[in-house]
Amino acid sequence: MSYETGYGTLSGRTAVVTGAASGIGEAVAVLLAARGARVALLARRGERLEATAEKIRADGGHALAVVADVTDDASVQAAKERIQKAYGPVDLVVNNAGVMLPHPIDDGRIDEWQRMIDTNVTGVLRIIRAFTADLVGAAAEGRTADLVNVSSIGAHITFPDYAVYGATKAAVTHLSQSLRTEFGPRDVRVTTIEPGLTETELKTHVADEELSGQLDGMFEAVGGLASEEVADVIAYAAGRPRHVNLRQIMVLPTRQA
Ligand code: NDP
Repeated sequence: MSYETGYGTLSGRTAVVTGAASGIGEAVAVLLAARGARVALLARRGERLEATAEKIRADGGHALAVVADVTDDASVQAAKERIQKAYGPVDLVVNNAGVMLPHPIDDGRIDEWQRMIDTNVTGVLRIIRAFTADLVGAAAEGRTADLVNVSSIGAHITFPDYAVYGATKAAVTHLSQSLRTEFGPRDVRVTTIEPGLTETELKTHVADEELSGQLDGMFEAVGGLASEEVADVIAYAAGRPRHVNLRQIMVLPTRQA
C-alpha cells in the first residue's frame, strides 16, 4: 500500500457496487476501478451501466455491467453467478442502491414504504446473503475483505415526512453495527458510510412538489457534496490495511449542521 498519496491501491481487489447507474454508486465504481479494482456495476438501467463500464475500460480499468434489481431474489442470484463467472469471488461489496420517497405519514403510502424497505433494507440483505461466503473466504485466505453499507445522516436525525426513509437508514446503520460482531472476528470489515446532502438523482424521485421544493432549498442553503467526494471516502476506507476499520463515517457538507 502507498502512504505517499494517502491512498491504498485496490489492485487485485474485486468489487461489486450496487446502484452504480448514477450518483454515488457510479462515482464509487469509477474510482475503485481507477485505483485498480475490477468492478461489477449493478442497477436496473443497463444502458447507464454499460456507458460507465465502457468509460472505465477506455481508461484502462476492468468493469462489468450487470443489470439487476435488488428487490428481486432471482435477479440478485443471477447477478452473483454472472459476476463470479467473470471475475471469481468478490472481496469488496458496496451496498449503495437506495430510494428516498418522502411523504407525510397521514398519506399512508404503504406502496412507497414497502419500496423503500425492500430496496434500502431487504435489498442490502439480499446482497449480503449473495456475497457473504466470498467475503469470508477472501478474509480466510489473508486478503482484505470489505462490506460497505451506504446509510445516511438520516439514520440519526429526524425530519418531518422522512420517517420511513430515516427508519430504513437507521436499520442499515444498526445492521452494520451488529454484523461487525459476526464478521469482525473473521477479519471481514464492515464500514457504514453516512452521507449528508449529496447532488445526485435521489431527489428527483420526490413526487410531492412542496417536499421537493423544501429539498431544493436545503441544497441551496448548504451546498450538496459531489458524488465523487463521497466516493473518495469509500475508496479511502477500502484502501486501509486490513486490520484498520474506519467503521462508521459521516460525511456532510460543512454547512449542514
Ligand atoms: P441515485 O438516485 O443517483 O442512485 C441510486 C441508485 O440506486 C441508482 O443507480 C439506481 O439505479 C439504483 N437503484 C434503485 N433501486 C434499485 C433496485 N431496486 N435495484 C438495483 N438498483 C437500484 O441516488 P444516490 O446516489 O444519492 O443514492 C445512493 C445511496 O446514497 C442511497 O442508498 C441513498 O439513500 C444514499 N444517500 C444519499 C444521499 C444524498 O443526499 N444523495 C444522502 C445520504 C444517503 P436504477 O434506477 O438504474 O436501478
